[in-house]
Amino acid sequence: MGKIKMRPPVAAAKADRSFWLQDINADRLTDPLQGAETCDVAIVGGGYAGLWTALRIKESAPETRITILEADFCGSGASGRNGGQVHSWFAEIDQLSAVVGDEDALMLCRATVDAIDELKALQDAGTIDMDLRLDGWLWTASSIAQEGAWTPAFEHCRKIGEDRFRSLDGADILRRTGSSASYLGIAEEKAGTVQPAKLALGLRQLALARGIVIHEQSPVLEITPGAQVQLQTAQGVLSAPRVVLAANAWLAALPELHPYLYVVSSQVIATAPVPQTLTDIGWTSGASICDAQRHVLYYQRTPAGQVIFGRGTGSIAYRDRIGSTFNRSGDLGFDNVRELHRVYPELRGVAVLHDWCGPIDCTAEHLPVFDHLKDHPNIFYAVGFNGTGIAQAPVAGHIMASLVLGRQDRWSRCGLVGIGRRTRLPPEPLRYAGARLVRWAIRVKNDAEISNRKANPLVTFLAGLAP
Ligand SMILES: Cc1cc2nc3c(=O)[nH]c(=O)nc-3n(C[C@H](O)[C@H](O)[C@H](O)COP(=O)(O)OP(=O)(O)OC[C@H]3O[C@@H](n4cnc5c(N)ncnc54)[C@H](O)[C@@H]3O)c2cc1C
Repeated sequence: MGKIKMRPPVAAAKADRSFWLQDINADRLTDPLQGAETCDVAIVGGGYAGLWTALRIKESAPETRITILEADFCGSGASGRNGGQVHSWFAEIDQLSAVVGDEDALMLCRATVDAIDELKALQDAGTIDMDLRLDGWLWTASSIAQEGAWTPAFEHCRKIGEDRFRSLDGADILRRTGSSASYLGIAEEKAGTVQPAKLALGLRQLALARGIVIHEQSPVLEITPGAQVQLQTAQGVLSAPRVVLAANAWLAALPELHPYLYVVSSQVIATAPVPQTLTDIGWTSGASICDAQRHVLYYQRTPAGQVIFGRGTGSIAYRDRIGSTFNRSGDLGFDNVRELHRVYPELRGVAVLHDWCGPIDCTAEHLPVFDHLKDHPNIFYAVGFNGTGIAQAPVAGHIMASLVLGRQDRWSRCGLVGIGRRTRLPPEPLRYAGARLVRWAIRVKNDAEISNRKANPLVTFLAGLAP
């Protein structure tokens, strides 16, 4: 049977890691895989998706022997680099409904609300200290073009009697964010922010405590399918009858998945701590905030008073090769600094101490997909979180556990399972060239619209070609 090559990540230099990872000690590693080992379920990737899958399998089948192989260290991928915004899937219920139907969409959205409760319970019990603050998630407009971006989700919720969001005016937003840049929006109140790397490392600790074996610095180089799948690393081989690929954007290198995935970069900056300045402008809460630009702008203040500002960049990976610029781009977060100063002119003199990037695994539908490889019913995958994973990965864990354990239930039957109904993207090099052009147009359009200018018709047309 043909071997499947993997393309492991380029590890980030310590100085290029996210502020979150640098702020905690992420250096205590488990041993790499050496020699031959076996287990019942092998998981490739130690981010939220891999860790939640492992934990869910343990919850329902405690006797299962699970081993996670992680290329660098748990949380080194998107899970330790993200914006820390926690919100449910209700913001995307209209998109979900279009793909999975109303009933499943509601079930999945409610499951993410339960996941937020679960995160809170883990924190309240002292199991995972993740700085979770449920001070709300604000989806706002800071220009005319952004107004009402939330209407389809808002109206959909109303229609089905789910009272998830409340409308905000400029005074509400100013009171909660200390900024008057956004003047209209909605809020999901049971939502907020976390320190994402603390969450990732907390899940890792929980997994270890529950008997899950983790080998870090063990990139899987090659998969040999079969009744006993073999995962080859530099120094060892792990054999298992069932395998889960939870390697996020790096899965786009698999020929079978490549047609459905494109990988873009999102960039984040962190300022020096300025708690007093933030208190002076009235920004004290732990709300997560975003505006409705196409390359969404997302921000939060940490409990210690650092300001975190993130935004999608125009970068896309050619042939899904994720190079070191997906760790750090080298432009010192220029674009995000500009946005920081637009939203918070009071912070113009404040030092920006960190900038970093991360890859986002996108599908045309902007929703994840769960399945097994076509010719290998014992090799499963979870991919396509599209930049929204904190409350979604715990749900993915349920779905993956049901698939791996061969259970027929609401998780394994839900409409996110099955790649067959998903949109295939154009082949390379057309895809890269087209995506570059479209993302450039989105950027130009964004920038015009932020200043309430209209982009020219050609730019508007090109931006409209985005999936
Ligand atoms: C910059 C940025 C900002 C974001 N902001 C938010 C946000 O505010 N809120 C939100 O909910 N979501 C956000 N997200 C999305 C969220 O972080 C992801 O959806 C989530 O972390 C996905 O988890 P994962 O386990 O699939 O991926 P990852 O955390 O990337 O884990 C995959 C792991 O697989 C490992 N791996 C890859 N290849 C191999 C191999 N061959 N062998 C072994 N291991 C391998 C990697 O090292 C990595 O650790 C953001 C993402 C980024 C990049």
